[in-house]
Amino acid sequence: MNSNVSSRPRHRTHTVRVGNISVGGTAPVVVQSMTNTDTADAEATVQQVAQLARAGSELVRITVNSEEAADAVPRIRERLDRMGVEVPLIGDFHFNGHKLLGKHPACAEALAKYRINPGNVGRGKKRDEQFATMIETACRHDKPVRIGVNWGSLDQELVVRLMDENTRRPQPRESRDIIHEAMVTSALENAQRAEALGLGADRIILSVKMSGVQDLIAVYQTLAGRCAYALHLGLTEAGMGAKGIVASTAALAVLLQQGIGDTIRISLTPEPGGSRTQEVLVAQEILQSMGLRAFTPSVVACPGCGRTSSDYFQKLAQDIQTYLREQMPAWHRQYPGVENMTVAVMGCVVNGPGESKHANIGISLPGTGERPVAPVYVDGEKTVTLKGDHIAQEFQQLVNTYVRKTYGAEREAAD
Ligand code: SF4
Repeated sequence: MNSNVSSRPRHRTHTVRVGNISVGGTAPVVVQSMTNTDTADAEATVQQVAQLARAGSELVRITVNSEEAADAVPRIRERLDRMGVEVPLIGDFHFNGHKLLGKHPACAEALAKYRINPGNVGRGKKRDEQFATMIETACRHDKPVRIGVNWGSLDQELVVRLMDENTRRPQPRESRDIIHEAMVTSALENAQRAEALGLGADRIILSVKMSGVQDLIAVYQTLAGRCAYALHLGLTEAGMGAKGIVASTAALAVLLQQGIGDTIRISLTPEPGGSRTQEVLVAQEILQSMGLRAFTPSVVACPGCGRTSSDYFQKLAQDIQTYLREQMPAWHRQYPGVENMTVAVMGCVVNGPGESKHANIGISLPGTGERPVAPVYVDGEKTVTLKGDHIAQEFQQLVNTYVRKTYGAEREAAD
């Protein structure tokens, strides 16, 4: 029933294997996330990686910033493997990455990809040597690398060089344009260096993260126009709550719609006590609402208005959404295709029946002054009318039956 499927053109990029996951080429856009635990605390990191993976993160990045963290990485990998959590781990390196990778070959091997920020590798001659050491380690261990430029740590020598060139122009460009150019140049020059050191183009992923929506769109458009490397998208320091979600969505949706982006991360600051997995859910929602991927059944719910005197339908919509998400790890295996299902929960008869008919299964609850009955529609047809005190439980049972019949073995038997 869901016709929200995108037929956008896709920017052509190399396919990069990151552990058991393909990024780029014709592969679906991959969701990734990052832990905020101290990696040296192996147990806490294992728990958070497992949580993120269960929420749907297909790649998880961890900070590798110290001897203790590098030492913990192989143990984290082994423990995850024993738990059956296969998600590839990405090591995030800054400043001392060349030393850590050299001194800890088991860490270099346990990671599925290295993330290198060219602005934080070192200065001058040392910069090139240290960058080369990390790329050579990646070649030796046959690992891909993300060259992740971040505007907060942009290579200042490069910025000065481009600013100097700009001032010599008859008509100098705006400094904002020069920063954009420096982001793209830094990514491309370092990718070329990596290739010259023996890392294949199909082992390189690039990112040029900025914190402004328009800046981000502009730099990725330029970068995509100049290379065929796989691209990692993300708005850096997106912020908290609605601001972070909206800003990330605004930026990424424009780029994804243009076919730009092979993997995404939403850099949300969790609310105090909030779950780290929220960034995974937001990434999935962006891809699913754009029709690029399907992860979990969609719940269509009306916003409510003066016709609804209680929050009953809001609660039902939330309960159903939570229930569907909780079932997905098992349903994913048991009921292939269930992630494309749409469930409608509507607040009254004005738009309720119409929206319910367009969903796979939908319920239209009684609004103020309406008869206390809730018609249920299945594949566009009204089937039953629920009433009484157990509408929510009965509707959940109807959803379960629909899933079994439509996506499970009962369907195959009927076919
Ligand atoms: S479906 Fe009914 S309750 Fe929901 S927003 Fe529309 S009129 Fe209001």
